[in-house]
Amino acid sequence: MSATILRNGRVIDPANKRDEVADLLIVDGKIAEKSEVSGQKSEFEEIDVEGLIVAPGLIDMHVHLREPGFSHKETIESGARAAAAGGFTTVVCMPNTSPAADNPSTIAWIKDRAAEAACVHVLPTGAISKNLAGEELSSIGSLAQAGIVAITDDGHCVQNHEVMRRAVEYARMVGLPVLDHCQDYNLVGNGVVHEGYWSILLGLPGWPAAGEEAMIMRRMPISKRKSSSMRRRSASSDWKRSSAYFSICWCTNIARSTSSV
Ligand SMILES: [Zn+2]
Repeated sequence: MSATILRNGRVIDPANKRDEVADLLIVDGKIAEKSEVSGQKSEFEEIDVEGLIVAPGLIDMHVHLREPGFSHKETIESGARAAAAGGFTTVVCMPNTSPAADNPSTIAWIKDRAAEAACVHVLPTGAISKNLAGEELSSIGSLAQAGIVAITDDGHCVQNHEVMRRAVEYARMVGLPVLDHCQDYNLVGNGVVHEGYWSILLGLPGWPAAGEEAMIMRRMPISKRKSSSMRRRSASSDWKRSSAYFSICWCTNIARSTSSV
């Protein structure tokens, strides 16, 4: 038996409504009561964590591990280690790799590599469209069987609403959420920063809020009719805290209210 005590950490556990400075005992990798080890001859490793937070592992819903294809930027191993260093024990990785994660064999490769090299849980997503081009659907059913947790063309936005409508239909059939990167390319143009005071001051091409908001509005009927679970992401507009939140709740509520239909 191996036992470790974390001393004087701030223990935060929202599920159990706990936020206090306390000691935490870990036996064989699991949180334990002190009574479980009383009377046993064992070496306790003590770690003073005063001033640090002790919490359940965090989950990052949007990471780029860059493999396969861009290992000069990041690898599954290095990205996972960075996640662990920040307290994240599960990450959801995006499909804009090379080749794109639009097919079961790439998903299998990511899962195998994660099993070998990642020190945190790695959950892959699959691409909505082949090669993230927004024109032809990937085989969403096969991707679901391969073990993805969502579909997204992250970094790209499907401009063709018919393609998106079909994607939402298939995702619904296999029980996957759709993570939508909302941009109207005509409005966003070559913008690199939110259009406003700072874009003017820095002389950078602006990206109008309407470029994101217009796409969200167009997605709503698709989400509504298909009773799907859609999420908007990667936003820079002022809607981030108002309308984006509204759109997420709205889509989710629609999914709930029509789930029996
Ligand atoms: Zn991204």
